[in-house]
Amino acid sequence: MAVDPARDVIAFGERLLALLDQGSFVATYKYAVLVGLMDLCLEKADRHGVAPDSVTTRQLAEKVIELYWPQTAEFRGRTLKQNSGRQARILSGIIAFREALPDPSVPLQRARREAPARFERLARDVEWTLILMPLPRLQVVGGHTVSLVYEIGWDVSIERSRREVREQQRTGRGSFDNQIRFLPSVGDHLVKLNGLLRPLIHRAWTAMVAQLNDLDESRLERFLFGVDRVQLAAVRPGLTDLQHGRCFYCQSRVLRDAEVDHFIPWARYPDNGIENLVVADKRCNAAKRDFLAAAPHVGNWRRRNESRLTALAELAREAEWERHPEDTLGVARSLYLRLPAVTRLWCGGTEFANADPARLREILG
Ligand SMILES: [Zn+2]
Repeated sequence: MAVDPARDVIAFGERLLALLDQGSFVATYKYAVLVGLMDLCLEKADRHGVAPDSVTTRQLAEKVIELYWPQTAEFRGRTLKQNSGRQARILSGIIAFREALPDPSVPLQRARREAPARFERLARDVEWTLILMPLPRLQVVGGHTVSLVYEIGWDVSIERSRREVREQQRTGRGSFDNQIRFLPSVGDHLVKLNGLLRPLIHRAWTAMVAQLNDLDESRLERFLFGVDRVQLAAVRPGLTDLQHGRCFYCQSRVLRDAEVDHFIPWARYPDNGIENLVVADKRCNAAKRDFLAAAPHVGNWRRRNESRLTALAELAREAEWERHPEDTLGVARSLYLRLPAVTRLWCGGTEFANADPARLREILG
């Protein structure tokens, strides 16, 4: 069967966005790496406009420095954090390089000219950080590597091979293979989707920086699009009773740690209807985050909504809570019934399973 190229490129875009959602990252590196790879695909196109099959870690390192350069200038009198703990290593490296310049506010091209030896050290250090951290981790979802964008010849155990990487950096030879190889047609997809993906990635990147630095933008976004956690307390006791005091996902007893969870994650579709709410213990709620739950949970959820229809209606009436069971089911169908089979769905804790389209059709049909 011929693959419809339009569908193919859209499927790729959706999976890439899912990867951005799901990868657990404490720094903004995943954004920098993806935008960097996209830029390189555009810049290194051959004379027929065909994107390259691979780029080197060094090329990516220079690109990433370029992306972070304006971001390491002062914003309202301070440098912004791009990591949840200490400043991200790549950024602190760039900031230190900048601060040692006679004029830290110069453009990158001039800084490179003024301090070539120090820039070389910075580039090698950034390259090493990319090799070590985001490159082998970017495509890991729920403990598994999902090769969607590229393949590389190493994994996280590269940490022990710093010497080989140094050797390659110094001589351009040696046992370390510095190629980031794009999967078939990925370079082409990235070029085609550039206009759509870039603003989305910029938006997500901005939101993360705003949140890490507690800027007004993040408060504004929470205000405009966030969920009102305080309000949810009103339906918690009723929902807990409905589940016989047990966590919806792991069935363990919830005592004071009961939390109301949006079964269809708020980040996917903001549905506050009572049918979309379940009670989970702290552990499960924290582990589920913005993931879609796996088929067995979907089955339990559908069953609960059917068998406790009257009780849910009653609860909504008492709490003056919103309720639109048909719409809620419609959203679940829209999201679940078009998932590619390779999508990783959350089972519990750190466990994930591939989506099972046949099973999901049966449950939600
Ligand atoms: Zn639980």
